Amino acid sequence: MRTWIKDPMAILAPGASRGVVLEDGRIAELVPEGRAPAAPIDQVFDASRHVVIPGLVNAHHHMFQTLTRAHPAGINKTLLPWLEALLPIWARCVDPENFRLATRLAMTELLISGCTTVSDHQYLYPPGLEAAMDIQAEEAAALGLRMTLTRGSLNLTIAEGGNAVPGAVQDTDAILADCERLIARWHDRRDGAMTQVALAPCAMLNVTQQLMRETAGLAARHHCRMHTHLAETREEVAYCQEKFSCRPVDYLEEVGWMNDRAWVAHGIHFNDAEVKRLGRAGVGVCHCPTSNMVLGSGQCRTRELEAAGAPVGLGVDGSASNDSSNLIEAVRHALMINRLTYDPAGVTHLDALRWATEGSARCLGRSDIGAIAPGKQADMALYKLDELRFSGAGDPLAALVLCGAHAADRVMIKGQWRLIDGVPLGIDVARLRAEHGKAAEAFCARG
Ligand SMILES: [Zn+2]
Repeated sequence: MRTWIKDPMAILAPGASRGVVLEDGRIAELVPEGRAPAAPIDQVFDASRHVVIPGLVNAHHHMFQTLTRAHPAGINKTLLPWLEALLPIWARCVDPENFRLATRLAMTELLISGCTTVSDHQYLYPPGLEAAMDIQAEEAAALGLRMTLTRGSLNLTIAEGGNAVPGAVQDTDAILADCERLIARWHDRRDGAMTQVALAPCAMLNVTQQLMRETAGLAARHHCRMHTHLAETREEVAYCQEKFSCRPVDYLEEVGWMNDRAWVAHGIHFNDAEVKRLGRAGVGVCHCPTSNMVLGSGQCRTRELEAAGAPVGLGVDGSASNDSSNLIEAVRHALMINRLTYDPAGVTHLDALRWATEGSARCLGRSDIGAIAPGKQADMALYKLDELRFSGAGDPLAALVLCGAHAADRVMIKGQWRLIDGVPLGIDVARLRAEHGKAAEAFCARG
């Protein structure tokens, strides 16, 4: 079956002004100006009212946190007080049922915003939530989303000098054994994979160096990615200097993570030499502009990192630090916060879109998604510019970012429509809103 996505209003792919042809879940052909597809077509989709971009890829999130958005204990705080206020509540109240609903809600929000590949840094494993990754794999499959199951962990409590609460931690052997189980069950290394696994100790503040080292060994043996939070706040840098007598990038080196299997979240407080070292090593950095602004953490050095050779991706992060799981909104925020540092020609809407597509795909270690090009997976987000906010817009691709697109009209994953007329397939959004709202209310009442 060859499908022609024909004559888009605009498309983020050079040489495809007449659209793209899809076949067997992949991009088969780009159709340039004045041309028609090279081979016969079975089906035509008229995209003349759509702006087409590669499906967005979310490289950092914490979906369970949708249960505590705008929580009174967490608002108007910086990272550490925010975390200290909410972590005990999360550890005490998350269970398989509310976790499933939180996952479903965050994934649905992401899909509606134009996201086709998700990852979730799920580090919370109180007793009873051992199957968290399996739950997320099931929920992603139900929506047709690609997912990197990002198996987080905590093993260093407050009593041991870290900041994890006892109810949320697991011991190192249990964590590593579950990582191996998940790799065997879900890590598909083939081109076009729907599910992969990444190993993700939460942060230097709440995991041991031994766990970081053993994770690096496991990731190398099984050819999977590894992920952690790094250099998010000045306090973290000070903690690193005090506890380990070094800076965060030295710490990363010390635990065997300075290689191109690793991507880190935030990556804000790096000096010039560290930026160069990260670039040389090929460590990816997931920029999380919304969360960084909400918590007042600072700003990722996106351009310097990219210039040094580090992949830069984009993540919504959250949800309680962003309170929204909308990746196209994060693209706009990325453009805006970066304009505080770089001049308008230095960071454009195309840079912000690249971070959310190709950049995030590189962070997740994938070359088969993140761009509309022959041979890539047919993952695309299509937006209409019919709302009032777009009226009068000139450049349609710039309008998506500058006028603040927040919902796709259609989303395709592996050649299949998963969102049509703004509605995700196979899910009752009103029911989900009611069920999740009720679960969140019960969660906060318990906390
Ligand atoms: Zn995070």
